[in-house]
Amino acid sequence: MKVIIVGGVAGGASCAARLRRLDERVEILMVERGPYVSYANCGLPYYVGGIIEKESSLLVADANTFRSQFAVDVRTGCEAVGISPDKKTIDLRNVATGEVTTESYDKLVLSPGAPSVRPPLPGIDLPGIFQLRTVPDARAIREWIEQGSLFLSGMDRYSGFQTVRPKTRAVVVGGGFIGLETAENLVHRRFEVTLVEMLDQVLAPLDPEMARLIEAYVEQHGMRLALNDGVAGFKPAANGAVDVLTKSGKTYPADIVILALGVRPDTVLAKKAGLTIGDLGGIRVDDQMRTSHPDIFAVGDAFEVRDFVTGEWSLIALAGPANRQGRIAADVIAGRESRFRGSQGTSIIGLFNGAAAWTGASEKTLNRIGDTDFEKIYLYPNSHAGYYPGAKPIAMKVLFRKSDGRLLGAQALGEDNVDKRVSALAMALQMGATVYDLEEAELCYAPQFGSAKDPVNFAGMVAADVLRGDMPLSHWDSAEKAFLLDVRDPVELAVEQAPGAVNIPLGQLRAHLGELPRDREILVICRSGQRAYSATRILLQKGFKARTLAGGMLSRAQVETFWEN
Ligand SMILES: Cc1cc2nc3c(=O)[nH]c(=O)nc-3n(C[C@H](O)[C@H](O)[C@H](O)COP(=O)(O)OP(=O)(O)OC[C@H]3O[C@@H](n4cnc5c(N)ncnc54)[C@H](O)[C@@H]3O)c2cc1C
Repeated sequence: MKVIIVGGVAGGASCAARLRRLDERVEILMVERGPYVSYANCGLPYYVGGIIEKESSLLVADANTFRSQFAVDVRTGCEAVGISPDKKTIDLRNVATGEVTTESYDKLVLSPGAPSVRPPLPGIDLPGIFQLRTVPDARAIREWIEQGSLFLSGMDRYSGFQTVRPKTRAVVVGGGFIGLETAENLVHRRFEVTLVEMLDQVLAPLDPEMARLIEAYVEQHGMRLALNDGVAGFKPAANGAVDVLTKSGKTYPADIVILALGVRPDTVLAKKAGLTIGDLGGIRVDDQMRTSHPDIFAVGDAFEVRDFVTGEWSLIALAGPANRQGRIAADVIAGRESRFRGSQGTSIIGLFNGAAAWTGASEKTLNRIGDTDFEKIYLYPNSHAGYYPGAKPIAMKVLFRKSDGRLLGAQALGEDNVDKRVSALAMALQMGATVYDLEEAELCYAPQFGSAKDPVNFAGMVAADVLRGDMPLSHWDSAEKAFLLDVRDPVELAVEQAPGAVNIPLGQLRAHLGELPRDREILVICRSGQRAYSATRILLQKGFKARTLAGGMLSRAQVETFWEN
């Protein structure tokens, strides 16, 4: 059997390696348009920032490794330009010479990825404007940064030497994870960085109130954000700089511009071959990675996946799913019964000393599809036992089914061990766990690592309290009409007050019950929701109608007070 794989990075390379491990007899040809296979595109922003010093570190396995260890015929600088599914042939063009040859296949795997979106804006091809997808892209950015301005700004008055104005201003267009990661790395390289984003938030998969925390954090670390503003075009400016013009009429001068406007599935070949393309513009496959043609498979960023939670078609460009899909395609070609479970979009981004991570559905996705059978909680547990040095709060939002407690999604951010909480939640979600399972999860604990009630347990306990009726819950959007009871200590009110709330600190509540109404619902507030829960329990047991305000003052976008901890 002869298998041809188009695209030699995440999905393609993992497919080739897995297929060889499963079958020594199969003939494998992997073609890659670019100069490298199996490179670490996830590391590119850190190469730009200089954290990864050597370009060679990005090359995880080179073509020779594939040839010698896996007996894969690797052709770099080789572009697939046409497929004849009926004849089972593929046309390959040598990028250097232009020569086109035709190869036959028994099975074909497409893993062409998703190139960066590059809209035809005026001036987009000016020098100094870059995108970041490949090693040559990253190299070009580093060279531009390190060589100084190409344009000389004149003679120094005193020394008579020519002076070069250093590059100091960067504009990053797009607030997704590639844009933010690259922006952070440019901050590390001492650029004044402005990030321009068309939406009213960064990191679109997050719900806006969680994104606000990240926005405040990156601003505290020196990044400027221009949200709600799209780029309209670019104009050359003095000394080789570029003026970035936005739709709101603003101009941002820049010595370097990074375009990170998202990615779009590469379906050029798939369309030529007549394969079915989905409504979102990705190649359609079944759960065994088979396209509409039984001998052609597609993996990675180029195809539409089923969202694991909502069941909707979705475009998810992530390295983990691409690698798993590559393995599954190899399994199926080798005669195994593997199936892809759909993608949860589990992601993490590191920013300065912190991280934001998420898995599963967001509240806005559930709202968009009209799903009303869900509840949300906010919690702000410490990353490990508060008495052990270095504990940091984690802001968590967890979504679950009201009807059966099934976990639907989670978002978390903070400066310590966010990843392990979201990874645990991601695994739980994939296993169909409920919030009752999270309550019972037995997780690692010693004071430097966690708490006897780990944040994951804690999330389960809070959510289960809500579902069992022990903690009726409310949210800020219904706070206006209710009787608000603030159970924080008076000293905390100096930082911020809940408008219109009556303050009775938790410790004094039992003595002041006579001051509270019995004919109205009482909404109980504290800083994070924990004391409000205790107060709610007192009130409910004393016959009051009471609800805890989820996440307390912190869920009211108290961004500064969260990060101050
Ligand atoms: C800067 C950056 C940072 C990222 N960081 C993360 C991260 O932290 N975490 C994460 O999960 N994901 C991250 N990703 C996304 C992740 O890299 C992708 O999801 C993953 O690489 C997709 O794998 P793929 O095989 O579908 O496509 P790719 O890895 O993009 O590989 C596709 C390859 O196919 C080649 N190709 C296309 N068409 C042809 C053709 N006709 N003939 C021959 N070759 C062709 C292309 O040249 C390309 O090299 C990042 C991506 C980028 C660009």
